[in-house]
Amino acid sequence: ADIALDMARRHRHSHQQYIEGQDEQHLRQLTLIRDLQDAVANGELWVAYQPKMDCRTGTVTQCEALMRWRHPSLGFVPPDEFIGLAERSGSIRMLSQWLLEHVCAQLETWQRQGHYLSVAINLSASDVVDQRLALRLAELFERYQLAPESLSIEVTESAVMQDVDAAMGTLLELHRLGIRIAIDDYGTGYSSLAQIKRLPVDALKIDKSFVQAIDTQKDDLTIVRSTIEMGHSLGLEVVAEGVESRTSADLLSTLGCDYLQGYWLAKPMGSEQLTEWLDSFTPLSLPHPASSIETP
Ligand code: C2E
Ligand code: MG
Ligand code: MG
Ligand code: MG
Repeated sequence: ADIALDMARRHRHSHQQYIEGQDEQHLRQLTLIRDLQDAVANGELWVAYQPKMDCRTGTVTQCEALMRWRHPSLGFVPPDEFIGLAERSGSIRMLSQWLLEHVCAQLETWQRQGHYLSVAINLSASDVVDQRLALRLAELFERYQLAPESLSIEVTESAVMQDVDAAMGTLLELHRLGIRIAIDDYGTGYSSLAQIKRLPVDALKIDKSFVQAIDTQKDDLTIVRSTIEMGHSLGLEVVAEGVESRTSADLLSTLGCDYLQGYWLAKPMGSEQLTEWLDSFTPLSLPHPASSIETP
């Protein structure tokens, strides 16, 4: 009987802890949702840039813009947490608009310094169905005197599939402006390449979950190899994210992957840090695809 009582007590205790944990989590989310609305005006956001390397030339001509938020009392909040909340609470468009403007101004600065980088930005589902997005971008290109090729878009399959027709309209307009489009986190969604090919897509970005352990996991290597082959046979460029070692970089380059991104090359960093990084960077030499050596 004592044991039963103890179990009941423990059960009630853990149940209560669970509820308290949930409450705490819920409270944090409500706080973040509320404070996100002022984050732009309060200057709490900034952008980190992560370089991508062209495997063939070993040079860096592209990078990805990743949003960062330092909350005044809660400190650094990761984008995997606040982007989802912004999407569900309706503030994502405001954040995206801030990011676009900020990145375009930064691109102009870099071009004045002689760095002709192209920056990729991530779009959410509600951005890709925003009918004014293309027009706003065209205005930004005009204002900052940028070529449309200096910007590219990364969007996940799931963001596009939420409303394919509306997304298709926006993506076509962006494409017509000269903006390149990549499918982000490729391999984590449920859409087929046939569905993806219907979209105006230029590149596939293989999700880091398949790439991170490519140097030790045979299965991952197989998946990545066939993704690169399929992508290429459909005329798409292939980018690998989450490249964490030189061995992985060499493997991917040997498989014919077009671009690499990951902690091995560089972590995301502030714009000034990236400028310094670019100034001191010397092109690396990666192994060429095996087929170009092996074919008689
Ligand atoms: P993502 O677009 O797939 O970005 C790649 C994420 O992987 C980034 O995380 C990057 O820091 C991380 N990463 C890059 N290389 C490595 C590596 O070698 N190893 C590991 N473990 N991680 C690596 P981050 O910056 O935390 O962003 C997470 C996600 O938040 C992004 O995934 C993207 O979906 C979203 N996000 C970030 N910024 C924005 C934004 O401005 N707008 C939108 N809509 N989403 C954003
Ligand atoms: Mg991305
Ligand atoms: Mg990704
Ligand atoms: Mg992601």
